[in-house]
Amino acid sequence: MSERAWQRLEEWSRDLPSVGVFTDIDGTLAPIVPTPDMSEVPEKLRSTLSILADRCAIVAGVSGRTARDAYDLLRLDGMVYFGNHGFELLRDGAIWVIPEARPYRETVEHLERRCREELGPLGAFVESKGITASIHYRNVPPEVGERCREFVTREGERLGLRITVGRGVVEARPPVSADKGTAVRRLVEEYRPKRALFAGDDTTDLDAFRELRRLRDTGALKEALIVGVESEEGPPEIVREADLVVDGVEGVGSVLRLLARGAAS
Ligand SMILES: [Mg+2]
Repeated sequence: MSERAWQRLEEWSRDLPSVGVFTDIDGTLAPIVPTPDMSEVPEKLRSTLSILADRCAIVAGVSGRTARDAYDLLRLDGMVYFGNHGFELLRDGAIWVIPEARPYRETVEHLERRCREELGPLGAFVESKGITASIHYRNVPPEVGERCREFVTREGERLGLRITVGRGVVEARPPVSADKGTAVRRLVEEYRPKRALFAGDDTTDLDAFRELRRLRDTGALKEALIVGVESEEGPPEIVREADLVVDGVEGVGSVLRLLARGAAS
């Protein structure tokens, strides 16, 4: 199967204006490092992406980070950045928040302020993410963590927000359906590539994998290619659902370089 996938990439490379490239960032374009602010995208990969951004229908970074944060990692103006789990898009220097989420902006800000007052003094870190809020409690005693989960859940739900608890973090977001899948759908509908790939390494990328397949099955895309980045921490579905499995950021580089070869001819 992977032989066939490489062959398809080769075919796609001959018609780059018809191709959409969608990719996760952390663990896919940037190796995983101890803290997110240490992340870096290898220079060689950046220049490949820059070539593709010039020639393809669209090249987009799709990330759980804020769109601004995603941009800062890549600093490529030809790309677009869908951040905050599908809630916001950055292109040409401006941030666009999905319309359904906009009415909740003040509510999220209000919750953030309350968390700063109540949980900040206990040692929790309240991250400003704009349309969503993240309260981190990894570096505080367990009872403070519990207090954070309790407080954010109670206050957030009272305000009508959706609360999710992750590893050392509790997050609040508008009660609106948004994820990497809805992000990819919006971009395909707007930029209309004929064929598209998505590369990702983690659970939230599976939404994009499945949406890309749906787009193909319903005819919005002629072809779709799912690139799974294999890692020890990623869920098994990444490998199971992929058309092409690659090893780490280096493997993603090979895929993109093969595609970019078409730009030279
Ligand atoms: Mg990732």
